[in-house]
Amino acid sequence: MSGSALYNTFARAPLSFEHGEGSWLVTPGGQRFLDFAGGIAVNSLGHGHPHLVAALTEQAAKLWHVSNLYEIPDQSRLADRLAEATFADKVFFTNSGAEAIECAIKTARRYQYAGGHPERYRIITVEGAFHGRTLATIAAGGQPKYLEGFGPKVEGFDQIAYADLDKIEDLVSGETAAILIEPVQGEGGIRPVPSSTMRKLREICDRHGLLLILDEIQCGIGRTGKFFAHEWSGIEPDIMAIAKGIGGGFPMGACLATEEAASGMVPGIHGTTFGGNPLAMAVGNAVLDVVLEDGFLDDVQRKALLFKQGLASVIDEFPSVFEEVRGEGLMLGLKCRLQNTAVNAALRDHNLLTAPAGDNVVRLLPPLNVGDDEIRIALDAIRAAAAGLAEKAAGAA
Ligand SMILES: *Cc1c(COP(=O)(O)O)cnc(C)c1O
Repeated sequence: MSGSALYNTFARAPLSFEHGEGSWLVTPGGQRFLDFAGGIAVNSLGHGHPHLVAALTEQAAKLWHVSNLYEIPDQSRLADRLAEATFADKVFFTNSGAEAIECAIKTARRYQYAGGHPERYRIITVEGAFHGRTLATIAAGGQPKYLEGFGPKVEGFDQIAYADLDKIEDLVSGETAAILIEPVQGEGGIRPVPSSTMRKLREICDRHGLLLILDEIQCGIGRTGKFFAHEWSGIEPDIMAIAKGIGGGFPMGACLATEEAASGMVPGIHGTTFGGNPLAMAVGNAVLDVVLEDGFLDDVQRKALLFKQGLASVIDEFPSVFEEVRGEGLMLGLKCRLQNTAVNAALRDHNLLTAPAGDNVVRLLPPLNVGDDEIRIALDAIRAAAAGLAEKAAGAA
């Protein structure tokens, strides 16, 4: 055997971390990196948040896991709190984002089936979307690079080009069950769907008896400065998948639905071994304690403005490196003129961790509780990296 025993599925940076402190990751050698990749929008409250550590360790001493054959009081409590704070009436907990989307797809299809429309199983999705890596979610995402070589694509997904979002109604047929969309595309390159389009999607769904499914796995849980990104547009979905930020680093997700949308999900029809177990629920409740605290999301919006303004001035300074800043709240993307992976590596050389995305974008996903001073440090790192890149590019030209 050559090399590592791990699957070769990841292109990893030659870097590992020994511990984390708030917005910082520290290597075994003591080198400190400002973490604005956040485990890809997972570490919503940074590393080692005392309230989350306490919730996890206290629960760990009491009870790790029981199956869903029994009542799990903290699971009911977290579901109640999510329902209270959102459009939803019903919640199903999962271990990951892809599973939350799987549950959303099944919920939508069962809704149509239970309503006497078994022929309505198709789901319209958007080009550039990312919904996970299971067989159904790669079909939903529709990206050829993720589908290649895995046999027949799971049936029942119709895709609209991102530029043609306004013409989505043309794709609705008598077999359509739902529309599935990310209010802000994450992997696709931090592309927010305009509020007017979100409202139009809601109208189209209402007009044709379709369910609107939102994928807020990356943009939810305060990431955009609202609890959920769709709140910016004033509309509500019928079903919503969440994950990433809700666990603050503990693997968990959930599918939220209105009572009506979930009406087909009757006993025995869906299940999970690990989903909603006591350890995950303790952490999920602890994350909500912080994110739903009075003023927390206002502060995210305030810091986001500070960051975005700073980024705009860095872009003005280095037009040969960056094209624009986009996104909402602390889900920001720098569209690059140079190769985004090279920019990402240069930022890492300046001890700032970011995450590349589609459309030649570098994602900036700091913890929601990032400090103003840390935003300034990040801006300095971006400026320094850009200066080096601009100089190198000018030398090469
Ligand atoms: C990360 C992500 C997923 C998949 O989540 P996993 O936990 O990796 O399965 C799905 N949709 C969006 C928008 C994501 O960002």
